[in-house]
Order: sequence, then C-alpha cells, then structure tokens
Amino acid sequence: MKIEVLTLFPGMFSGVMSESMMWKARDRGLLDFAARDIRDFAGDKHRQVDDTPYGGGGGMILKPDVLVRAIESVKGDADAPVILLSPQGRKLTHAVAAELSQLPRLILVCGHYEGVDERVRELAISDEISIGDYVLTGGELAAMVLIDAVVRLIPGVLGAEGAQDRDSHAHGLLEGPHYTRPPEFRGLGVPAVLTSGHHAEVERWRRRGALKRTWQRRPDLLASAALSDDERAYLAQLDAGEAD
Ligand code: SAM
Repeated sequence: MKIEVLTLFPGMFSGVMSESMMWKARDRGLLDFAARDIRDFAGDKHRQVDDTPYGGGGGMILKPDVLVRAIESVKGDADAPVILLSPQGRKLTHAVAAELSQLPRLILVCGHYEGVDERVRELAISDEISIGDYVLTGGELAAMVLIDAVVRLIPGVLGAEGAQDRDSHAHGLLEGPHYTRPPEFRGLGVPAVLTSGHHAEVERWRRRGALKRTWQRRPDLLASAALSDDERAYLAQLDAGEAD
C-alpha cells in the first residue's frame, strides 16, 4: 500500500513511521509512506497556506488554491481516494480500517487552524474520517491513528506476532483476558484451562471470556455480533446471574 499524507507538519510523522510495526511494514516493502509539506505548494515567497475567514470570526482557514494544488499534484492522473481527517467525517471503526486496508493507495489530508475552505471538500476530497467526537488541533495525530489501524490489517504486516483476528472489534466483540508468566503473581494465579494443553477448551474459554467482557463493558456491541445459539444461551445465563 502507498500512503501519502499532506500536512503542515511532516516532521510529526517521522517518529511514528520509523518505529515498531509501521517501520517493519515499510522495511518489508508492504508500505510505501511519504509525508508532503503543504507549504511546498504555496505560490508566494512567504509560503502562505492560510487566510482569514470571509464573514469574520476567529481563526484561519487553509486556502483552497494551495490545498487543491497540493492534492492534485500528489494524486497525479491515477485514481486514489483522498481522505480528509475531520471531526465531521464518518467515524473510524474496525470495519472502516478493514475497508481501507484493501486499497492500494490512500492520500490523507490533514487540516489545521479552523479547517479547510469548503471548496476543497467539493473539488478534491472523496471521503472524510473522524477518529472520535472531540476536536484535535490538527489532522496529523488522527492520520497516524488511521494509518496504524489500517496498516496492521495488511496481510503480512503483523505476521505471526499478532493475533489480530481475535483483537477487540475484529468480529464485533471485545477480546477477553490474557495471562503470561509468572504462573502466580501477588497471590493471583492463572486459569487452569490455559495450562491444560487442551486447545479446544482454551478456545472455548477465550470465546466465553470475550463474550463476558463485551457483556460487561460494551453490551451495545452484542446486538450486532454474530453469535451461536450456545453463546446466546451463555449470555442469557450471565443476565440471570447463573454463569460466571
Ligand atoms: N473547526 C473545525 C470543526 O469544528 O469542525 C475543527 C478544526 S480542527 C481545530 C483542525 C483540524 O484538525 C481539522 O481540520 C482536522 O483535520 C483535524 N481534526 C480535528 N479533530 C479531528 C477528529 N476528531 N478526527 C479527525 N481529524 C480531526
């Protein structure tokens, strides 16, 4: 996958994109990443990218001529989704990340100040994505969140190191508890089934752990999760206080 980010602060990406899984993805040739400075597309010697809003009011607005020029230059003639990070966009979920992880190329646009001139949206943006119902200073952190959530789903990025199929939200549930060595820590042990060597029992325990955790913390997710009759019966037992 090729990801190009348009930003006023390309340096913000260097740490995140040079460590851990993002670096491995780049190193393995699974991710081609570039952060492009919007200022490079300003037409004047002051490299001005923003201006005051028509109608008054506080803050500055990213200029449409500079931003559309930047997007068109990066995009070229090829077709590619151009995603504006925006608190007004559709919310980033596992399903959205999975959808984007199938695409060969993404162009991400980071807003700043009060945001972008509305004509940029009309002329050059194909999608808007929000990482949550709050407002950040700029789109950079949101873009990094999106990139991480998407890139870890590209086949080969996590390899055997990750069990992303069981991760929270991958199939509509939260993931259940985990344990590692030591077998006893401050008087707390490890569920016996995990050291029993019975893989089918371990899987059943994990699935029930995921169901219980979701039931406890995010019961809203259960309405749309794909569950067997046996699992629905287990949830009914939890509701009735007849299971633990
Ligand atoms: N005035 C805008 C509004 O009320 O919708 C908010 C502008 S915000 C200060 C500046 C930039 O940060 C936005 O253009 C966007 O790129 C980014 N941003 C802020 N919150 C975000 C969020 N929740 N998700 C994604 N991007 C966000």
